[in-house]
Amino acid sequence: MISFKSCPQCRGDVHKARDVHGEDASCFQCGWYVELSRDPLSEMALDELRNSVKPTLTKAG
Ligand SMILES: [Zn+2]
Repeated sequence: MISFKSCPQCRGDVHKARDVHGEDASCFQCGWYVELSRDPLSEMALDELRNSVKPTLTKAG
């Protein structure tokens, strides 16, 4: 998706792209680049995974 004249640096045309990591935008004219969103859901899922695989305690006795 392209946002015309929305580059904060040069008022160029900004191309917005979405991939597995989130959404980013870059300018055709000057190369300006920004990450719009770092998929927070996958980060949360990772945390939950880490928590769920904490080492199990061996029973004493
Ligand atoms: Zn630009």
